[in-house]
Amino acid sequence: MEQKYDIIIIGAGPAGTLTGKLCAKKGLKVLILEKRPEIGAPKRCAEGIGLPDLKRIGYTGKERFVTQAIDGGIVITPNGGTIEMPKEPGGYILERKVFDKFIAYDAAIAGAKIYTKAHVFDLIWAGGKIAGVKLTYNGEQKDVYCKIVIAADGVESKIARIAGLPSGNTPKTIESGYQYEMANIDIPDPHKIYTYLGNDIAPRGYIWIFPKGSHIANVGIGIGNPNGKTAKYYLDKWIAGKPEISKGSIIEENSGGIPIGGFLESMTTDNFLAIGDAAHQVNPLHGGGLAESSFSAEIATEVIIDTIKSGDTSNSALDRYNKLWWEKRGKNLKKIEKIVHLLEKVTDSDLNLAQSSLCGQDILDLTEGKTHKLIRIMLKNPRLATLVKYLK
Ligand SMILES: Cc1cc2nc3c(=O)[nH]c(=O)nc-3n(C[C@H](O)[C@H](O)[C@H](O)COP(=O)(O)OP(=O)(O)OC[C@H]3O[C@@H](n4cnc5c(N)ncnc54)[C@H](O)[C@@H]3O)c2cc1C
Repeated sequence: MEQKYDIIIIGAGPAGTLTGKLCAKKGLKVLILEKRPEIGAPKRCAEGIGLPDLKRIGYTGKERFVTQAIDGGIVITPNGGTIEMPKEPGGYILERKVFDKFIAYDAAIAGAKIYTKAHVFDLIWAGGKIAGVKLTYNGEQKDVYCKIVIAADGVESKIARIAGLPSGNTPKTIESGYQYEMANIDIPDPHKIYTYLGNDIAPRGYIWIFPKGSHIANVGIGIGNPNGKTAKYYLDKWIAGKPEISKGSIIEENSGGIPIGGFLESMTTDNFLAIGDAAHQVNPLHGGGLAESSFSAEIATEVIIDTIKSGDTSNSALDRYNKLWWEKRGKNLKKIEKIVHLLEKVTDSDLNLAQSSLCGQDILDLTEGKTHKLIRIMLKNPRLATLVKYLK
């Protein structure tokens, strides 16, 4: 391992490898360090991505990491009512273990150097500023230096906290996720994703079925208000009541935290920035982070290239990353965070009302922070009208 790079990226998830790929393409000397022995494994994801997001990352949907094409979805309200989501723009269920590796292959081919089993445990400081990272690799401790360190170390990001950013999560800003990949289950239409709502089945969250084939799917849950019970408890209880699911076999089991808001005003300090889940860059309504990572990788790359070119990688120069991210993504995600706070206040009968008042496009609009139709509907209902303040 060489001792000096332009940038060091901690974590080879999508946020890290996408940023590494884009920066290497622009000619930077890039090091990506991943603590696990295999990039992409274990997966902690339902593996869904929209077609426009996959295209932005640079893929077509024909790659071998795609398991299933999706044309829309069904939202199921607590009373069993359904809302059909639009077929367009469509999307895919991926095999994250292969997808993450594809981005890593591309980053390496673009010139980034990647090491697995390389665990960063601390930062190097010089004159009070970050100057590199301390890691263990092959049982040896190493110091490696760079101009900018990038924390892409996921939801539990320790490195951003060592750098002094308030990136820790509180119960309000994190959901617990639990998921089984199951085979031999029956799915009404295996080209649709299914989302089940209800305070009894998934408090402050939802249960999902994301099909990976005719009888194969990720069956999972994300919850934010477990009342002392685990996400697994709620998922198992729900599956037990669904013979078409409970008859299946569990092929893989995984769990993980999902940031749902608590966006950081500043994701930078001198010679340092945070990206992806490490910076809470996730859509708080559905918990999707792949699209957000790809937007942020583009924004970060632009700023990293400019600051390294100018020789000024101070916090005030890197602050452009904060400004651009808040303008292009954060402003809208903050609106979506408000919808999540509203959802904490609604009852199952309010959710049932959504079934008769909202169409699939309205739900899609909500995932993009567009609340005008929801507000109109809420204002017509005396109880819901009192909750409109949460959206302001
Ligand atoms: C149950 C669940 C379901 C989800 N479903 C979806 C979905 O369907 N669609 C979607 O878009 N998003 C989904 N997400 C969110 C998505 O998985 C994340 O947003 C995405 O993986 C974030 O990418 P990242 O690169 O920021 O972090 P990660 O993918 O978590 O990558 C971080 C990497 O950093 C490494 N690392 C950590 N610390 C260190 C260290 N000290 N040194 C070296 N390496 C380190 C880790 O090993 C890891 O590989 C889901 C999340 C969960 C938990």
